[in-house]
This record gives sequence, structure tokens and C-alpha cells, in this order.
Amino acid sequence: MTTTPLPPGSTIGIFGGGQLGRMTALAAAKLGYRVHVFDPEADPPAAQIANFHCAAAYDDQKAVAEFAAGIDVATFEFENVPSPTVARLEGVVPVRPRGEILHIIQDRLREKDFLRGIGVATTAYGQVDGPADLRALAPKIGVPAVLKAVRLGYDGKGQRRLDAGTDLEAVWQDLGASQAILEAWVDFACEISVIVARGIDGKTAAYAPSENRHADHILRQATVPAAIDAKIACDAQACAEKIAAALDLVGLLAVEFFVTRDGGLLVNELAPRPHNSGHWTMDACTTSQFEQFVRAVVGLPLGTPARHSDAVMTNLLGEEWLAWPELAAEPGASLHLYGKKETRKGRKMGHVTRLAPKTGF
Ligand code: AMP
Repeated sequence: MTTTPLPPGSTIGIFGGGQLGRMTALAAAKLGYRVHVFDPEADPPAAQIANFHCAAAYDDQKAVAEFAAGIDVATFEFENVPSPTVARLEGVVPVRPRGEILHIIQDRLREKDFLRGIGVATTAYGQVDGPADLRALAPKIGVPAVLKAVRLGYDGKGQRRLDAGTDLEAVWQDLGASQAILEAWVDFACEISVIVARGIDGKTAAYAPSENRHADHILRQATVPAAIDAKIACDAQACAEKIAAALDLVGLLAVEFFVTRDGGLLVNELAPRPHNSGHWTMDACTTSQFEQFVRAVVGLPLGTPARHSDAVMTNLLGEEWLAWPELAAEPGASLHLYGKKETRKGRKMGHVTRLAPKTGF
């Protein structure tokens, strides 16, 4: 594969036009690249920043072929791009990260099997194809446990908790998936994530882990540094770099971990794209996760992931963004709004990052 970077002025095609695509487009513009966005919605957040928006369905192969003809490299801001679409793109332009990575990460079982195959620790899990599998596996996994649809789950959607006495038949019917994964519940001390970039030359750059607090399965706050030992932070970064290399990734990877009460690390989930828990890098690092993503995708050398400040990033969910006059007036608060027209309960409308002088690792 050529390691010559695409020159500024080249066009990046992004599948998905949400806030991740929007902030990627802003970073691309900073470096002189053009962005085309593919998203079926009218006026999605990224299209307000992009040079061109194709509003077609993700499986509209005619639209995909036309879109591909106008770009120099393709990437995505969400992992559920249909496989035939990725295959069509791969016939025309470089796709970074490559389609095989999407294939692995689109399916929670394939993802966990991949991790186990490269020696990365996860919670105990097993495959469930129906109520009989669930009855057989539940005693082995124990309770509490969590049953997750293997595909299309995010922010806790498609998940059911199992406790002693849970009616397994009912929980299976309620989940409504054709295939699921049953995971042992982790009594974690905290949740952290590491964002790692990997360039076209195989070099990696990992950001400091953030400590992530969720409410109703949605990320509320990411704090850096995380309240963990420096050794655990180092181990998490090394693990994220190992996974990125094993995937032969070119782009960005978010690795979500549980830190167990005895200081161990279990990987919960991967995302091969910018991640909500990495938004703090926009204000606290020389090179943000979005710039790093653009650099990797166009083949530029990666920037430094070093941070100059400590940071607390808070998501603005639903109507919280309406406090923009106060947030804009708050000294030291950096306000980011995503340009979404409709405010809905729990919807990510923006975020605010508060900085403090750097401490810790
Ligand atoms: P996920 O969609 O897999 O990222 O899960 C969303 C959230 O549910 C995680 O961030 C955890 O807070 C919680 N969760 C998921 N799986 C487990 C598990 N096996 N044990 C404990 N908590 C979990």
C-alpha cells in the first residue's frame, strides 16, 4: 500500500452525517481537505459543514457508486454501514478503516471472539440463538448477567439484565433479536476508554484514558485523568495499541474497558471511529481525536496525543443545550453545539468541556 499522503484539496467521503462527522469535517477543513457526506437524513449536522451532501439510503448502490466517483478516500462515523456498500466503495477508493474491521465490529460475538483470539481479556460470554441456548448457558454464566442483541445495539439499546429468577423465555422474547450474546455482569470499579490512532505507516498514538460516567446507558461525563493507577492507564493504552495493530487498522479506534475492583482490565466494546468519550481532546490536546482521524485517513503522519490540560467533558442531552447563554458566558468552558434542529429527550445536542491545569499521567 502506498504511504504517500493524499494532498490537501483532496476529498474525504464520510458515511454518516451526525456530530462525529461534523467535527471530523471541521478538522478536515483545518488541514485543507474537502468533505462529502453520505447520510439519508435531510440537513444532518455534518452536512452543514461539508462541501456536498448525498441524501440517499446507505444501501442505494447507484448513489454509492456516484458518491464514490467524487471522493479520494472513504471513511465512516458509525459502524453499521451495509457490507455491500463498503465492498462497492473498496472497488473504487481506499476505505479506511478497511471493511473487514467493520465486519468484525458490527457483531458483538465476532468482536469478542476476535479479542479472545488475540489474548485480550473480556467478561465471560457465550452465543445465544434461542431460548434453549439461553437456558443452557445461563447457569454457566451465572447472575447477574446481560443479554445483548449481537447487532445494532448502542447506548444500552437491545440489552436486558438477567437476575436470579428472571423468566428466560420472556426475556428472550422481549429482546426480539435472532441472535444474542450473554455476558457475565462485571462489578466494575469504573469504566474507562482509550482512543488510539493508527497511521498508514503502522505508527500508533494513544490518548490518556478517560473515566466515563453513564446515566441511563448514555455517556454523561468523561474525565481526564481517570482516577486510576498510572500502571492501569499504561496497560489500557498498550492494550488499545495492540488491538489496533491486530486489526491492521488505519484510522481511529475507541476501546471501552471495565476496570475491575482488583485493578484488572476487561474490554467491553470497540468502535473504529471517533468516540464521544474522546471529545475532551478537542480542547485539551494539541491534536484532537478528529484531526488525528483525518490525518490517519488521508495518510498524513499522526500528531501528538499529549494533553496540555486536565478536562471534564459533559454531554448536553435533550434540553440541556438551551443553557447555551450561560455556558457561553462561563469562563474556561468550551461550548460545542451540533446544529440539530429537533431537541429530543436524551439526544446528544452538544457538549461542554471544562479545563484545569494538567495533573497526573
Ligand atoms: P455497551 O452497549 O456494551 O457499551 O453497554 C452499555 C453500558 O452498559 C456499559 O457502558 C456498562 O455501563 C453497561 N454494561 C454493559 N455490559 C456490561 C457487563 N457485562 N457488566 C456490567 N455492565 C455492563
